[in-house]
Amino acid sequence: MKRLYRFLVALSITLACVPACAAPLPGSLDVHWNEGAADCSKTPQPPLQVYHYNAQTFILRESPCATFEAPFMYLLLGSTHALLIDTGDVADPKQVPLAQTVMALLPGDGDAKLPLIVVHTHGHLDHRAGDPQFQSLPHVQVVGTDLEHVKQYFGFSDWPNGVSQIDLGDRIVDVLPTPGHYPSHVSYYDRNTALLFSGDFFMPGRLIIDNTQDDVASAQRIADFIKNRPVSHVLGGHIELDADGNTFDFGSNYHPHEHVLELTKQDLLGLPAMVAHFNGFYTQDGMYIMFNQFRVLGAELAAIVLVLVAVVAVIWRYLRHRKRLRLAKT
Ligand SMILES: [Zn+2]
Ligand SMILES: [Zn+2]
Repeated sequence: MKRLYRFLVALSITLACVPACAAPLPGSLDVHWNEGAADCSKTPQPPLQVYHYNAQTFILRESPCATFEAPFMYLLLGSTHALLIDTGDVADPKQVPLAQTVMALLPGDGDAKLPLIVVHTHGHLDHRAGDPQFQSLPHVQVVGTDLEHVKQYFGFSDWPNGVSQIDLGDRIVDVLPTPGHYPSHVSYYDRNTALLFSGDFFMPGRLIIDNTQDDVASAQRIADFIKNRPVSHVLGGHIELDADGNTFDFGSNYHPHEHVLELTKQDLLGLPAMVAHFNGFYTQDGMYIMFNQFRVLGAELAAIVLVLVAVVAVIWRYLRHRKRLRLAKT
């Protein structure tokens, strides 16, 4: 009788816990990312680092020596499909053998290979340059990055509202529109691991915001989504800061003492307040630098033009002055 009672108690706890107590599958981020080199020609680095977060989840990163962008890519395995999020900054398989590496990580051989879906966080070239490596492979589907493709593939009828799902077999990944950095930017939430893949929308680095209104709305939308969900880590597209929160020089192939890749649920919940006071041009908040690249570029171009005009004016006045002196002497 006691045994039956214990069994019934255990059963009721189990049933009560589904799905509220379903703990995210654990993984490890005890990893040191390749930091590139001060002189990559003297100390060549492996072009691609592959890290096993857990048995079904891989983090791939192009070395800062392979490309200063050093983007991260994520491979999730389900029971019927695999999902690759982003393809990095390098097209040439001789430089970075991304497709070969990813295909070798997929279970099965030949026709039994686990089918792969290649998606992106957004369409900036440093997140999709590797697409051609996958495009002619069997059992591989590459999803486009322009807004029409993204809306159509994921079935967003009221973009940027709504949440779509990708079913990888025993693994559901939610797709959340997060435009602002890029018009068709999306973030991915893996229900199995509670990892959130935020691309360039949120990462330890420069937050380029090209549409402030969209970005503010995206930050609120994603904060609302995660509020009552577990988030084990927020994983973005790059690391552009050192451990003290200082940005590496733009274009640098050397990232010594990098900041960790992962941000927290709390960090992401703080994003709406942070972007709410972005001035639309350039704002720093703690370690995050938010800027509109088109406006900053425009201002830099305007400054260069002003300097050139000033230099030309000074030279012209100097030449005119010399001419006057010559005429006065004759
Ligand atoms: Zn980007
Ligand atoms: Zn990027």
